[in-house]
Amino acid sequence: MEIYVDPDRCIGCEICVDTCPDIFEMQADGLSHVKKDAAACDPGGCCEEAAELCPTDAIFIDGKPR
Ligand code: SF4
Repeated sequence: MEIYVDPDRCIGCEICVDTCPDIFEMQADGLSHVKKDAAACDPGGCCEEAAELCPTDAIFIDGKPR
């Protein structure tokens, strides 16, 4: 699944990084980004959980926020 963090929505709370460190990382701008060498975002995996926990719906999976 394709995953994307919208920088206009992310508030840098780090929930996604704590939930799914294989996919997300904090960068110098204080926001979460998808790692360049991110593991696959599998259905039912931690990236979906992170997207559901994100307080601002900043994580898009296959083009849609969760
Ligand atoms: S959980 Fe959402 S708001 Fe928090 S750092 Fe991750 S993408 Fe940003």
